[in-house]
Amino acid sequence: MPAKTISAPKTDFCASLLAWFQPELRQMPWRETSDPYQIWISEIMLQQTQVQTVKPYFKKFVERFPTVQALAESPLEPVLKHWEGLGYYSRARNLHKGAQVVVSDFAGQLPQNRAEILKIPGIGPYTAGAVLSIAFQLPEPAIDGNVLRVFSRLYALTDPIDKKPAQIQIEAWVRALIDPQRPGDFNQALMELGATVCSPGKPKCGECPLRVYCQAAQAGNPEAYPRKAGKTQVKILNLQVALLAWQGHYLLKQEKESGIFRDLWVLPWSADGLEALEAQILAETGLKTELGDSLGQVEHTLTHRQMKMALHPGGEYQAPQAPLLPVGWAWYQPGKDAPLAVPVAHQKIFKFLDAHPLLHLMHF
Ligand code: SF4
Repeated sequence: MPAKTISAPKTDFCASLLAWFQPELRQMPWRETSDPYQIWISEIMLQQTQVQTVKPYFKKFVERFPTVQALAESPLEPVLKHWEGLGYYSRARNLHKGAQVVVSDFAGQLPQNRAEILKIPGIGPYTAGAVLSIAFQLPEPAIDGNVLRVFSRLYALTDPIDKKPAQIQIEAWVRALIDPQRPGDFNQALMELGATVCSPGKPKCGECPLRVYCQAAQAGNPEAYPRKAGKTQVKILNLQVALLAWQGHYLLKQEKESGIFRDLWVLPWSADGLEALEAQILAETGLKTELGDSLGQVEHTLTHRQMKMALHPGGEYQAPQAPLLPVGWAWYQPGKDAPLAVPVAHQKIFKFLDAHPLLHLMHF
């Protein structure tokens, strides 16, 4: 039997999808609110992060910053601290900036149209669609990787979905099908279908409410979709990290360069070799150090980058008073001092040192 065309029986398509979607079965704190601000926070947190990981962060974040005004008025440091461990910190920085723009340019209310909401830092087409449809019930598509996959299979799309033409085509299809009464549920249902049924490896077509519309399933080859133009190569970054200590405290600096660690506290590091790292520490703190051979390597992988961080001991100061440091540098005892926002990559280094105390003693 050939697949039904989707355009004609739009109401059937929506009814099948929405009958399957039972949000109450997968409880999520952001589904219990209609506050556009909270929905915005949840959508940003859920980018590249799993639902179970996000749940406790979301609760704590909205407790600490209950309104867009509270977030806008907060200094950046506590915002980053509440993001610590979630990764991709540019999301937190943009959220903070975005809250300030909402307060200054939109009287503290998230705008209710696509062109305006896209002016807010950190809100791209996906987040705009998600917030507009879930918070304001506007028929705007929210197309993430799951939706791209589902639609590439529904239409047996041979164009690569990592290229613009296929994405434009899929957006047009979603726009044509979106349920005008329940656009938020429609978008969430599609995403959930992609996450739980129409999965990348082996789609469970037997459980799928859209099977009668699906050209790939009818042809018996859903795994052949989506087509992709090519994978982005993972770039390997070989970094040198300096370990300087004073009585169990490590020397940290607050990252000022633009990049993934901006405003976070990190061990001094360089990609340009030990001499460059020693020179950087001397120039910025006045501390002279000679870094030793690497005592181990810690790895951390981001979407398109793998960091290989070689740990180089620079000695332990014995003086009763900590050597003085300029602003933006600190002596920090992990787990004991007042918390600083340290990215996961560098928290891994502290864990590595904790797990290898002998190695640590031998080299300081
Ligand atoms: S029928 Fe199979 S391939 Fe088609 S949308 Fe459903 S799960 Fe995906």
